[in-house]
Amino acid sequence: MDFRPTEEQELLRRTVREFAETEMRPHVMEWDEAQHFPMDLLPKLAALGLMGIQFDESVGGSGMSAVDYCICIEELARVCPAIALSIAAHNGLCTSHIAMFGNEAQKRKYLPRLTAGEVLGAWGLTEASAGSDAAAMRTTATKQGSCWVLNGSKQFITHGTIGGIMVAMAVTDKTKGNRGISAFVMEHGTPGMSAGKKENKLGMRASDTSEVLYQDCRLPADALLGEEGQGFINTLQVLDAGRIGIAALSVGLAQGAYEAARAYAKERRQFGQPIAAFQAIQWKLADNATRIEAARLLTYRAAFLKDRGIRMTRESAMAKLFSSEIAVKAADDCVQIHGGYGFVKDYPAEKYFRDVKLLTIGEGTSEIQRLVIARQLLGQ
Ligand SMILES: Cc1cc2nc3c(=O)[nH]c(=O)nc-3n(C[C@H](O)[C@H](O)[C@H](O)COP(=O)(O)OP(=O)(O)OC[C@H]3O[C@@H](n4cnc5c(N)ncnc54)[C@H](O)[C@@H]3O)c2cc1C
Repeated sequence: MDFRPTEEQELLRRTVREFAETEMRPHVMEWDEAQHFPMDLLPKLAALGLMGIQFDESVGGSGMSAVDYCICIEELARVCPAIALSIAAHNGLCTSHIAMFGNEAQKRKYLPRLTAGEVLGAWGLTEASAGSDAAAMRTTATKQGSCWVLNGSKQFITHGTIGGIMVAMAVTDKTKGNRGISAFVMEHGTPGMSAGKKENKLGMRASDTSEVLYQDCRLPADALLGEEGQGFINTLQVLDAGRIGIAALSVGLAQGAYEAARAYAKERRQFGQPIAAFQAIQWKLADNATRIEAARLLTYRAAFLKDRGIRMTRESAMAKLFSSEIAVKAADDCVQIHGGYGFVKDYPAEKYFRDVKLLTIGEGTSEIQRLVIARQLLGQ
């Protein structure tokens, strides 16, 4: 067992951190307030290999490991959790689904554009009445001649408005329950497909979230991604890995909040001394630093298993559950340590506090992670 990062991983962390500090930090609040995703960042992220982190070099990916992926997402989230969320959804959901279950022609057609940052990927599972119970989805795909015709709508889709390529799940056989769901890949702008309401969110505001509507949307036969009826099963595998990304995002956000709190505690003076001299503040810092290290270890362990091709359903759910919950605490303590200044927009504390809540909800709520873990423990 070796807990040290390699020299390459140290360099990767420094490179992504420097990028986030120079290219992102100065604009974070402006993007947040305007609910604007900076598309001009995509070629720069692609130049660092961040638009195709874990994908094969033959499709333009940077061939990095799952542990490297965690380092990248962590460093983006430390500065701007919303950009990190978009990059995690692009890599870990849409692009991953195509890379894991697409045929050679689909991989050749879609992956190079995604890994080059030419387009953002979107991935649609959730519907208005099917969130945690995603298999209860109502969107249908019906065979008509050699085409599939999609009808229905998807809710809360990251890059639902600005994405260029989308993977969406739809019911192809109502009689077969979750084995009657299939996945499809399509270009945004396909006739019959449109973006619906763009959500006005509490946090993660620079990351675009919207409805996606399908009304007699005709897709060619080769839009079917993976085997017919396997879409939901494949989705669970995509989510096992995707959750490692949300765990890493949580670790990065918690780290950013903790660092902001530590810096402020050393600078802010009350009762004639820096507030960092008070034990109540020191304990908050010590507890957060300890929890962040524990979350990082759980996250890297899940990634380590993924890199070795070992099933990590339980470990990725544990990493996601623990990391997102300790991140909520880190963001809360960050605001508390800032006092009144934690409540205003001149300091980063309030934004971490708003952004963090998504992490106990997206890609499976904390309750659903506990359900997944319990099922694994009980062998169900
Ligand atoms: C910003 C953002 C981005 C998103 N991006 C995407 C995306 O790109 N693609 C996509 O497909 N989806 C996306 N989602 C959707 C997200 O995955 C869902 O919101 C999430 O899975 C929860 O579903 P829900 O919102 O319908 O909540 P519900 O399922 O209605 O849950 C409501 C509450 O009930 C609890 N609950 C539900 N079932 C159980 C149970 N069996 N036991 C105990 N408690 C339970 C939940 O934990 C929660 O507390 C995104 C959401 C947001 C907010």
